[in-house]
Amino acid sequence: MGSTGSVLFDEADEEFAAWVRGFAAKYAGQYLERSKNTDFPWDYAAAMGVQGMLGLTVPDENGATSATKLQVGIAHEELAYANFHLAQCAYTGNITSSLLTRALAPEVAAEWVPEILAGQRIVAMGITEPGNGSDAQGMRTRAVKVDGGWRVTGEKTSITFAPHSQAMITISRTEDPATGRPGTTAFLVPLHQDQVQVLPFEEYLWRPFGRASVALNDVFVPDHLVLGEPGRGFAVITGPFDYARVMTCLMAAGMARRALDVTAGYVVERQSFGRPISSYQGVSFPIAENATRLEAGRWLAYHALSLADAGRPHRKEAAMAKWLLLDYSLQTIRDCVIAHGHLGVAEDYILQSLLRDTSGLEIGEGTPQIQKLIIARSILGRDAVG
Ligand SMILES: Cc1cc2nc3c(=O)[nH]c(=O)nc-3n(C[C@H](O)[C@H](O)[C@H](O)COP(=O)(O)OP(=O)(O)OC[C@H]3O[C@@H](n4cnc5c(N)ncnc54)[C@H](O)[C@@H]3O)c2cc1C
Repeated sequence: MGSTGSVLFDEADEEFAAWVRGFAAKYAGQYLERSKNTDFPWDYAAAMGVQGMLGLTVPDENGATSATKLQVGIAHEELAYANFHLAQCAYTGNITSSLLTRALAPEVAAEWVPEILAGQRIVAMGITEPGNGSDAQGMRTRAVKVDGGWRVTGEKTSITFAPHSQAMITISRTEDPATGRPGTTAFLVPLHQDQVQVLPFEEYLWRPFGRASVALNDVFVPDHLVLGEPGRGFAVITGPFDYARVMTCLMAAGMARRALDVTAGYVVERQSFGRPISSYQGVSFPIAENATRLEAGRWLAYHALSLADAGRPHRKEAAMAKWLLLDYSLQTIRDCVIAHGHLGVAEDYILQSLLRDTSGLEIGEGTPQIQKLIIARSILGRDAVG
């Protein structure tokens, strides 16, 4: 199944897709093996850095980016089709480099961003806390203003990349030192210091990236590492959420397309009762149904990105795509497992890795319920939904 070939993609988009596909294809054969070990893929990050794939959304001095949001979506889908680990490196690189470029003073950003773009440095995003994930506003982490900076105390948990990151973008409750008005402030917290404890999880998915709890014990963060305006941190940190949701579901779609292609090859070869199993509608119809669902979900995702490129509201469409395309992608991979019989659950076959890695995407960037909450609020109004 080709990923593009649509009237919604113009010639430049098709060329962009072919460029990413050509790059990613070299790594397709490594995905299964890499998904079993915990070595961070610095080699992937560096290779993508050379290609400029980690800074697709970083604006140049004129505010222009090297790719449209729609093209960044294409990149995530194509990279994940070949090897999820490439896509996940691209995801974090693009989000953190663009956020830090916009939210730090230029001379401070210059100390951090070039190494992210080169794939030599990873910055984690720490928002979830032990007591609240979906309700990010319920955070308990607090920061107190002191001379020259802030002292931050709290715990963030389930933070992807934290075991390999030099720093974490995070958010805390604060009070305006002059007025006492409550607000939230976003910080870039260097992790390699005594007041920070990174406690890695035992992983069964996304192994090369790691996840961890990060305890912040009265950590001093200098004023120049405050992101955006103090007191308005929530807006800074959640700004890229809609865009991130669409990248997440397109990564899922890439992995589901790979599962479907593997399965299409398998079912025409595998025989049962003297015939290829593709001749049974119980096998061929799920392939037809899932290919159709994926196609529909993908166009919803690209529609959301085209709205974003046009500068139009797209929160509802991004949430719709995140929920629906993730659901379709997981359904596709589960049906592919069934079509493979016992092979579908083998550790040494690609489908279980695709299933695990895709299921992680369903929770990160908000669960299906949270997407439906966003959609319902945008249709019915916040007061009506709560
Ligand atoms: C693989 C993976 C990677 C992650 N990486 C990161 C990361 O890098 N950084 C980070 O900050 N976090 C990360 N997370 C955490 C993730 O963002 C949270 O798990 C997610 O937001 C859900 O929060 P929670 O786990 O606290 O669940 P809860 O918020 O406790 O929710 C539990 C259940 O209740 C449901 N629920 C909650 N509120 C409502 C409601 N109002 N209406 C209906 N249902 C509701 C949820 O949908 C869910 O099913 C990651 C998670 C995973 C699985």
